[in-house]
This record gives sequence, structure tokens and C-alpha cells, in this order.
Amino acid sequence: MKIYPVFIPNAGCPHRCLFCAQDRTTAQQLLPEAREVERWLERTLPQRGGGEIAFYGGTFTQLPLARQTCYLGLAGRFVATGRVAGIRLSTRPDALDDNCIARLQAAGVTTIEIGCQSFNSSVLNRSGRGHTADDSISAIRRCCHAGLQVGVQLMPGLPGGDAAEALQSLRRSLELKPSFVRIYPTVVIDGTALADLWKTGDFTPWPLDETVDVCADMLQLCRLADIPVIRIGLQADAQLEANFLAGPYHPAFGQLVRSRLWRRALLRAGTHSRSISINPDDLSDALGHRAENREWLAQHGMSSCLVTDKTIARGMLRTSGEDFYFDARPAQGGQYG
Ligand code: SF4
Repeated sequence: MKIYPVFIPNAGCPHRCLFCAQDRTTAQQLLPEAREVERWLERTLPQRGGGEIAFYGGTFTQLPLARQTCYLGLAGRFVATGRVAGIRLSTRPDALDDNCIARLQAAGVTTIEIGCQSFNSSVLNRSGRGHTADDSISAIRRCCHAGLQVGVQLMPGLPGGDAAEALQSLRRSLELKPSFVRIYPTVVIDGTALADLWKTGDFTPWPLDETVDVCADMLQLCRLADIPVIRIGLQADAQLEANFLAGPYHPAFGQLVRSRLWRRALLRAGTHSRSISINPDDLSDALGHRAENREWLAQHGMSSCLVTDKTIARGMLRTSGEDFYFDARPAQGGQYG
């Protein structure tokens, strides 16, 4: 879906989560004026189209009510004229009571992204989130029940969180059947309370390779549950990179994760057959960032077994005449053992 993002830096958010540095991860510091937003949308939106205007970056539902009404009103006018299909916003689980959800729906909001980050109480406490896992569960359930599209944002690698916690938090999310998931591994940004902990040795971010492995497990669970993951890893950005101190940040993080799943699939397939065919459009992910999987295939004696074949569907491998999903979803005719 086409997204038209309007960034509202964490103005409106009375919290200061340990990891949050919206002021350091974006060049934009001030809440945009309504006229400015309107002019940008006027210039940017097609005369008719789908997609959503998305208010990202802060806690939309804790902005002053007049400001929310103003933003939603101007976005709603573009929806009414058919230039865009809906409105999306991001907020916290504890800033979504029933009245708020009803008000947002009446204003034409179609999708709400909820920053849950973890469903583990200790991790939430240590990260200074100021809400509980039950707040997240309740918010997701009530938004889904109201017929809204619901996105869940998770942050593996927060203080006190390990791989088991990340997978458990994801499983809890998937049980609630959100419309989609975003996964942002925790990194240390200058100016945050997390940076202070990192400088004193009281917080150690996960290594990149381990984080890729955990996120590959998370992506696989989402695919098995048939719930889309619309983003893995922070968006590459000069401002973010200028303030990045430590942690599993990589500009091609999403590809690293997809390639890790391909690597696992190729290894499984390679034990059954010396020839593995894939769609040519999957070759880049199968070989990985800077073709790192090519070297890995060579180490496992599989350097010449990968070939491309346009007749194979995207996301599938063919070995010994049978097709399998690279993410190990059951396919017609069988599944990996
Ligand atoms: S609730 Fe969101 S915007 Fe507010 S401090 Fe936490 S992460 Fe930042």
C-alpha cells in the first residue's frame, strides 16, 4: 500500500522511553503546521488513488486534541475527494481508550500502528515504557474489534530481553491476529538514556549476526502465521547514522534477515539434492548482501547447485522436482523435515 508519511516528532509524547531519540533520528524537530501538511499533500497526492496518509513519529493520540482534530480534518478532506483511501497513525497502547478509538474512526482513521515493543513486564519496565503488556493486548483487541487495521511494532534486544523473550513477545502478538508487524531491533542512539547505560557498561546491545538470526526466526513465525512483516530494521537515514552509537544497525538489515532464511532453506534443500532452482528475482536475497551466502554455499560444498528458473514462483525452491517455500511454510506436496 502506498503511504504518504507526515512526520510528527515526539511532540505530544509525555514519555521518555529509554531508547527513544526522535529528535536525533530525524532532521525534523518541530510539529508541522497544518497549512504546511496540507500544501505537501496537495502537491504529493494523485488526483485519485489508494494508499493512506500516515501520521508517524510520535504519540498521535497524546497530541493536544485541537491539533489531532486539525490534522485528521485536513487528511479527511483528501480522503473525501478520493485522492487517498485512508488515514494511518502510530501511538502507544495506553493512549487508546474506547472514546479515543471511536473518535479516530469517526474521523476516518483506517489503520493504527501500536508501539508494543515487548510483551514482557520486566523488559517494558526496564525500558521505561510506562505501560504494561495487558495495555497492549487490550488496545490491539479493541482496535481489531472496531474493524481497524492494526499494526504491532516490536523491539527485540531491549534491556532484559533475550531471544526467547523476543520470540515469546512475537507469539503473543500473533495470537492477537494483527494486520501486520514491524520489527525494529534495539540500537543505541546518542542522547538517550540507553546511551548512558551503554557508556557505563550497564547495557550491551545484541551483536548484528545474532540479531539477524533472531529476526529471521521472527520473520519465519510471521510467515507461518500468514501475517505480513512490513519492515525489519530501521530505515537507513543520515541523521540516524550521525547519532548511532552501537547495536545491530545495518542499512540493508531486512535483506540480511531474508537472506538468512534463504541460507537455512538452501542448507535443508542441499541435503536432499545437488541442484536447487529458484526464481531469478529471488537470486539477490538468496545470495545475500554482497553475495555473502555464495561464500557460505561454497564452504558447504554447494557452490554450483543454485540455478534460476522463471517457471518457479517467487519465494520457492525446487529440488528433485518438488517446490518448497524458502520460509518453510508447508507447500502442496510436502514440507521440509
Ligand atoms: S512513547 Fe514513543 S515517542 Fe514517546 S518516548 Fe516512547 S518511543 Fe518515543
